[in-house]
Formats: sequence, C-alpha cells, structure tokens
Amino acid sequence: MSNTNGHSANGGNPVEDVIIIGSGPAGFTAGLYAARANLSPLLITGNDYGGQVSITYDIENYPGFPVSLSGPELVEKFKEQAEKFGTRVEFDYVSEIVVDRHPFVVRTSGGAEYLTRSIIVSTGARPRYLEIPGEKDFTGKGVSYCATCDGFFFRGKDVVVVGGGDSAAEEALFLTRYASRVRILHRRDKLRASKILQDRVFANDRIELVWNTIPVEVLGEGGSVTGVKTRDTVTGAENLLKTDGVFVFIGHLPNNDLFPGKLEMDEDGHLITDRQMRTNVPGIFAAGEIQDKIFKQVATSVGQGCAAAMATTRFLEDLHAGHAVKWNVDPREFAAPRAAVAAW
Ligand SMILES: Cc1cc2nc3c(=O)[nH]c(=O)nc-3n(C[C@H](O)[C@H](O)[C@H](O)COP(=O)(O)OP(=O)(O)OC[C@H]3O[C@@H](n4cnc5c(N)ncnc54)[C@H](O)[C@@H]3O)c2cc1C
Repeated sequence: MSNTNGHSANGGNPVEDVIIIGSGPAGFTAGLYAARANLSPLLITGNDYGGQVSITYDIENYPGFPVSLSGPELVEKFKEQAEKFGTRVEFDYVSEIVVDRHPFVVRTSGGAEYLTRSIIVSTGARPRYLEIPGEKDFTGKGVSYCATCDGFFFRGKDVVVVGGGDSAAEEALFLTRYASRVRILHRRDKLRASKILQDRVFANDRIELVWNTIPVEVLGEGGSVTGVKTRDTVTGAENLLKTDGVFVFIGHLPNNDLFPGKLEMDEDGHLITDRQMRTNVPGIFAAGEIQDKIFKQVATSVGQGCAAAMATTRFLEDLHAGHAVKWNVDPREFAAPRAAVAAW
C-alpha cells in the first residue's frame, strides 16, 4: 500500500503487521526482535529521535559496553542493528491512533495513514525540567535526572536534590552512597514523600533539608557545575549554594497524548500492561517508560521492548493461523486495578 504520504508501506501489503511508535531503547529493541521474526516492522521515530538516550552524555551502565559510550552513539548502534534485520524506520510523528476498529489506523503529522494488525507503543517519558538558566548547559555535566545513572560520578562530592516527593527522597537516599553531603531543596516547609521515606531522610546524617527554597540558576565553570543560585519562597531572598551536582526530581511525564479514552492508564498517566506487555486493547502492546515508572533504565526498557515484540509475534501467529485470539489477561498481573479487558 502507498499511504497518503506516498511512502511504500510493507512492500505493497495493504496492512502492516506491526507498527512501533517511538525510537528509544524500547522501540528499537522491539524493532530488532520483530524484524528477526520476519514481521518487517515499521518504526515511527517521533520528534525525539533516539529518545532520552540521545540527550545522555555518557552511558556507563548498559551491559556489553565496558568502555562507556555516548547516548547518540548507542542510538546509532540500536538503529543499525534493527535495520540490519529489516526494520523500516520512518522519521515522522504519530498524531492519532484509531483503536476501536481492526486493523488499527495510525496517522502521522507528516500526513501518512497506515493500517496495522498490531501496535507496540514505546513513546517513553521525559523528566520535568526546572527550566532555569544554566540547566540545559550543564545537563550531563553536573545536572542530572537520574541518580542510578549518575550518582557514581559524585563519590565524595557535594550535591543538591531538587524536589520533595517520593522520587526526590528515594534518590537523595541513594545518593548518600556516594556523595559526602546531599542537600534537598524543597519549595515548601514539609516533604510530600511518604512517611517511611521521610523518616529515612531525617535519620540520614548525610542529608540536610533546605526548606522554602527553589533553584533559580545553575552556575558552573569549565564545563562543570559549581553552584546553584536559590530563592527563598517566603522572603524572596536570594542565596548561593556551592555544590558539584544538581539532581532534579520534580516529576516524570509519560508521553501519553495519543491515549486518553483509548488505552487504560494509571493515575500518573502511564499505560497499564500485564507481564506480556499487553494493554487493555487486544493487539496493542506497550514497552519502556510509557508503562514503567519504577525502573526507568536503558537496560529495563530494552528488556521490555524485547518482551513486547515476542508477545506481538505470538499474537500475530494466532491471528494469521485463524485461531481465536486469547487476550485473557490476568488482572492480578497488573500493577494497578483495571477494568475487564474489552472483547476482541
Ligand atoms: C538525562 C538522562 C540521562 C539518563 N542516563 C541514563 C543512563 O546513564 N543509563 C540508563 O540506563 N538510563 C539513563 N536514562 C534513562 C533512559 O534514557 C530511559 O530509561 C530510556 O531512554 C527509556 O526508553 P524508552 O524507549 O522507554 O523511551 P524514550 O527514551 O523516552 O523514547 C521515547 C521515544 O518515543 C518517541 N515518541 C513519543 N511520542 C511519539 C509519537 N506520538 N509518535 C512517534 N514517536 C513518539 C520519542 O520521539 C522517542 O523517540 C537517562 C535519562 C535521562 C533523561
């Protein structure tokens, strides 16, 4: 089929077997596995080619690469391997999915329209940014959104954590494994984190709380963070804190614009999947940070992309063989309570 954009979809077949939405680690891994299952997947990159990895300075915790590599280098390797086996990569953005009919319809902002028997959603997430001067300039050079990824670089150093919820508390506690001092800057005079985390934070003598305080500028020299300018939210007074690192945990936003009213999401807007990466709609799977708000790593997203493609392959085998599609999802496998799965 030629879609309305004039691209040739799937060698002239009118219906795609699988469309993968997103070009992060989950998407490219789903592409690799689906391609090796001879499904000739179509992967639509979205506007952030490579996903969050492409804005990561150095990746040191992805297995197989003992000498660290930059995020963009890893993205190129993901793409090369997925394409080698037949993944077709389209630089476009999905603007709409129609899921109440089968085959599903996928429309893009480039004007393409595809029909597809299955979809793997890997639209990922993004950290909520502070949006203050210096933040972008020093991302990967002292400003971080991931303690698991970057805490190691701050052994014996001073860091500040921005935020007051569970993530900020958890990540501050994690950072005390490395940093000599962790100051939590919080805009209010009490944390929002759960009681148990608060107790651990208050009991940890490496952590100090700086109440009623927001950062207004990240300062640095020679490519490294040297401090942060802050403002008191009550008095308005400005202050300068010397520090080596700024860890920002003020929220994590799933890229879910396509899904309200179509796919089930939890209270934070992540797609709900079972252990086979199935959403509530038969034929639609999800992998990576769009459905995982716990682990949020390249390695876990890759694993989920692999699982989604394997489950999709089984789904399509049943469909092509004319077997009744089993979508008997066990609600106990879900991370959150959910409604019954719609009939096929
Ligand atoms: C600064 C930073 C540093 C990090 N460092 C590390 C690290 O060192 N080690 C580590 O393991 N993890 C690290 N992470 C986390 C890691 O990058 C993520 O866990 C991982 O990228 C998630 O992969 P994903 O495929 O689920 O989604 P993402 O990487 O978020 O990719 C989502 C993809 O979906 C696409 N998309 C979204 N909407 C649409 C749409 N409508 N149509 C088409 N495409 C769409 C986007 O363009 C993007 O390509 C870091 C994250 C950040 C932000």
